[in-house]
Amino acid sequence: MKELVVISGKGGTGKTTITASFAAMAKNAVIADCDVDAPNLHLLLRPRIMETHSFYGMDKAEIDLEKCNECYNCQNACNFDAIDDALIINQHICEGCGVCEYVCETDAINMVKKISGAVFGSATNHGTMVHAELRIGEEASGKLVSAVKERARSIALENENELIITDGPPGTGCPVLATITGADLALIVTEPSLSGMHDLERVLQVTEHFEIPAIVCINKYDINEKNAGKIEEFCNERGVEVVGKLPYHPSPNMAMREETTVVEYRKNVLSEGLKALWERVVSELDQKEVTLLPAR
Ligand code: SF4
Ligand code: SF4
Repeated sequence: MKELVVISGKGGTGKTTITASFAAMAKNAVIADCDVDAPNLHLLLRPRIMETHSFYGMDKAEIDLEKCNECYNCQNACNFDAIDDALIINQHICEGCGVCEYVCETDAINMVKKISGAVFGSATNHGTMVHAELRIGEEASGKLVSAVKERARSIALENENELIITDGPPGTGCPVLATITGADLALIVTEPSLSGMHDLERVLQVTEHFEIPAIVCINKYDINEKNAGKIEEFCNERGVEVVGKLPYHPSPNMAMREETTVVEYRKNVLSEGLKALWERVVSELDQKEVTLLPAR
């Protein structure tokens, strides 16, 4: 079994469009949506939920007012101003650091597990998809991403799937690190702008640091061919292969309106480019050693 992650330095580069088309072209793959903060893959793959698992994020503090002597040590110690003058803890602000529990001399504070979202296993027309939902006010975390990955790996092992295709979160933060951990290959999607080049450099620093093999796709390369050329030059100098250059085309929006993927929607220059990109990615994956590490 191998694991492909599709990531980008920022949102809006076409990462999900590409992942959904890969899912449609792959045979025997599990699809994981690790962009848990702003998931979009379900709009294209129309998952039908088959299983739901509660997700517990960080513990939150709760005060038992019957044990409290109103010393206000907890309020003074809380760096996040989560405790108000009535000694009520705002659960949306509490960061679960446990300092208030530590300073309370009457044992009035307990750290309590709270459900902050759910992980779903769903059926799609292109195989099983694992995705997540956060409760309102909850923030995406590496822990939730790891829960999605862990479930995707279990399903892939149970069903003997050969590949996990993961739509990663944008950026370089904790959810991205959780996404790329243990992956066999990262496809970095970028766009031909100066900020795109800067974001690419940051993501490459992360994949290089964690020794995840990376390849690059320049999306909408024809919007600024000069910048696309600079990105290719930059990648060449860094020893990173640009495996695809996709043209601008309006079909992603049209496909989304019809809740389908670009490669299934209609044959055009972009769908053909995506097919060629997929072939390159598969051939890169075929060259990788199999490394299936447990999710952290
Ligand atoms: S530290 Fe404990 S006793 Fe003091 S106000 Fe907070 S909960 Fe009450
Ligand atoms: S757990 Fe930390 S953030 Fe939450 S109320 Fe206590 S001190 Fe504040």
